[in-house]
Order: sequence, then structure tokens, then C-alpha cells
Amino acid sequence: MTDILRRAREENVSLVRFLYADHGGIVRGKAAATARLAERIDSGIGHTRAMMAMSMMDELAPVDGMGPVGEVRIKPDPNTFVTLPYAFGAAAMLADQVNPDGTPWDGCARTFLRQAIAELGADGYELQAAFEPEFSLGRRDRADFVPIDESLCYSATGFHLAHDYTIDLVGALNKQGLEVEHYYPELGHGQQEIPIGHATALRAADNHVLLRETVRAVAIRHGLWASFAPKPLPDQAGNGAHLHASLWSHGGNAFADPSGQFGLSRLGHHFVGGVLAHLPALVALTCGSVNSYRRLAPSTWSGAYTCYGPDNREAAVRICSPIGATGSVNLELKPCDSSGNPYLALGGFIHAGLDGIRRRLDPGQPLLADPATLSSSERSRLAVARLPASLPEALDALAADSLLMSALGPLRSAAYLAVKRSEAAHFARHDVGYECYQHWMRF
Ligand code: GLU
Ligand code: MG
Repeated sequence: MTDILRRAREENVSLVRFLYADHGGIVRGKAAATARLAERIDSGIGHTRAMMAMSMMDELAPVDGMGPVGEVRIKPDPNTFVTLPYAFGAAAMLADQVNPDGTPWDGCARTFLRQAIAELGADGYELQAAFEPEFSLGRRDRADFVPIDESLCYSATGFHLAHDYTIDLVGALNKQGLEVEHYYPELGHGQQEIPIGHATALRAADNHVLLRETVRAVAIRHGLWASFAPKPLPDQAGNGAHLHASLWSHGGNAFADPSGQFGLSRLGHHFVGGVLAHLPALVALTCGSVNSYRRLAPSTWSGAYTCYGPDNREAAVRICSPIGATGSVNLELKPCDSSGNPYLALGGFIHAGLDGIRRRLDPGQPLLADPATLSSSERSRLAVARLPASLPEALDALAADSLLMSALGPLRSAAYLAVKRSEAAHFARHDVGYECYQHWMRF
């Protein structure tokens, strides 16, 4: 606390944003004035419970317990304090939503991830993770998103065209402690990718929120617009946020076994088995918007089928070959994008994998081909199934998945389904152009 107050004073911070991600995948919050900061870190800022029933269209879904009556506090996690390099005078902290008496609120998404981490910890494991973010850089021209370039995938020209923006972005991320690992212009027009280093699960989700904010805010300062919408332009490559993860225990990577198939331990195979078993439901969390399902299509490297394979970029779960040391093997979940709530996505992923470990699930045979190129009988023989093709289909799968539903708990699951069903109903009344516009505006 003393350290935060000192930093706020030294860096001329007058407002500290307390941020959280809602069920619609939107990052929202309230800011505390520095003069009241110590008190507000302690007590949080009062907030209506109804905000976790708000959709990405700011429509309030009917959820018992999330109406006009009832209060939570947006309580910041002091470990997450960062001054915002793109917003002079402002800092931010990621926040939980707690009951007025300070106890955890069962509608809070960050608490869901904390609980998943604790459950994993009780079995002796810690998850290291990172989201691998792709986004589109362009300009807003009224209702049109105009990509900054038409450069080719990984092309040197793409580096030139986005350079001024990218250098500012890298600086702003590094200053917040998000260590940039790589950067490259990606396949789609204006598409960029900027992976950052892995971290413990809670930090990885917090980092993804900070990154989303930074990418957009730096773009605004350059007179540009940046979007994480899964498919901002229907005829261009989609934006994924592949989830990379490994499990650690006793200081070592428990997914690594040099003598295991593809260097992946038996435990890792069980984890994959759990993820694949729950994946049709899990995508309701990892691919959380209507627009997500325009991206999640066969043969677009987004992982549209339930299968896994070593360095197979069409498999939902890719076993990434170790870089350098054999112990660096990790799993990559491709059906994941930035329009969902990262706390729910990562928490759901942990529950699915842990279920695979506990039940020693077998992931079946690895696949070394694009599943879309197999015949349908071959796919059924290998138990390779197409993932939900729409948000409503994914929500039905989630509602039918007793493990994920009970992990979410009655309030959170009811609110999530209600919010997402209201978004699905909203976009069902509109065309593709409107759907893409609303998503690139908001994500
Ligand atoms: N843009 C692809 C997606 O939607 C991923 C391309 C890649 O493999 O990096 O997930
Ligand atoms: Mg990529």
C-alpha cells in the first residue's frame, strides 16, 4: 500500500482505474481519485450487481440477484498496480468484485479463476499461461473499419507500415511489466500479433486485460483504431488469442517428458483428454461472442475440430514442440479469442484439464493432418468432431456440461448464459455488417 501511494505521488497519478472484465467480455471499471486511494483499496468502490448481467450491447439480461437492488464492491488487487504509459495521470489495478462485507462474490469472474487455480493447487499443480494475441490495426471511417495496410503475412513491408505504432506499443507494454517476446505483421489486412511472456494463470489473465487496453489506447493516440474482434472483416483472417499453457509441480514442467510421445508426459495427455472432452462447452467461454463463430471455421488455423496433434495448426489443441530445452513443451488451445472474458476462459480451461487428469482421460490418437480434409467417416472413427458453429450451439453445450456448470456455480452460470443468449438474440436480428461493426467497435 505504501509503495502504491508513493508511486502514485511520484508519477503524478490523479486517477486510478479499478478494472474488471464482465460476462459480455467488456473491460469496465471505476476510477478512484488518488486522495482517497488508500481508503478505496481497502473498501473498494460500490457498484451495482446488475453490471454482471449487462451484455456487450449494454442491454440488461434478466438474472435473479442481478437487478436494480444489491451492491458489490470493485476491490482492486494491489499486486496489479501499473501506471498507464498511454494515459498521463492515470494508473490501473485489476479488481475482484466482492460482497459489501469483503467476502468473495459468486458472480465475480476473477474469483472464478482464483478458485480454479486453488483447486489445481490442491492437486499439487500450478499453471503457467499466456494468451497469444492477434489484432487488426486500422482506422475508423464512420461505420467502416479500414485496415492500415494490405501487407502480406510476416512481410517486411508490413513491419514498415505499422512501425511507429508498434514501437510505442512495445514500450507501453514493457513499462507495465508485460514482457514482449515477439511481434509480427500477420496474415489479414492490418493484422498484427504481439505475444508476451508467460506467467502464473491469474497474472496471465490480468496481463491480457492490460494488453487489450494498451493496444487500443496506443492506437487511439496515433489516430488509429485497433480491434481484437474475432472477425472484424468477414473476408480476412480472424483474430485469435491462442492460449498457451503448461503445468508445473515441484519446480518442473509436469507436461514435459522427453521419453513421452512428442515430449508430452502422460499427465499432459490426460490434460489434453480433459480439454477435448469439455471443448464443445468450453468454447462458450473461450470463444465468447457471436462474432467468434465467424472466425472458428475449418481450414482457417483456428482449430475448429476436437482433436490434437504435434505442431498441427489445424488441431484445437496443438502440442508445441519444445524450444531449446526439452522441458519447454506446452499446449496451445486454438479455439480461443479476445472477445471473451479471459478469467472465465482460463478458469474453464483449468477445470477441463484437471478433470482429464483426475479421470485419467485418454485423448485418443494424435492427428497429423487438417481434420477438414478427412472424410466424415474417418473423422467419426477418430472421434474428431466439428466444434459448435454458433454461439447458441456452444451455450447449449455449456448448459449441458455438468462439470463446467457446477464449477461456475448457479449465479455465474445463469448470468453468463443469460447475457450471451441476449447477445445471440440481438445479432440474430441483424446482418453480418452490423455484427462485425459492433464487435470491432467494442473489442
Ligand atoms: N489467425 C488465426 C486464428 O484465427 C491463427 C493463425 C496462426 O496460426 O497464428 O486463430
Ligand atoms: Mg498468429
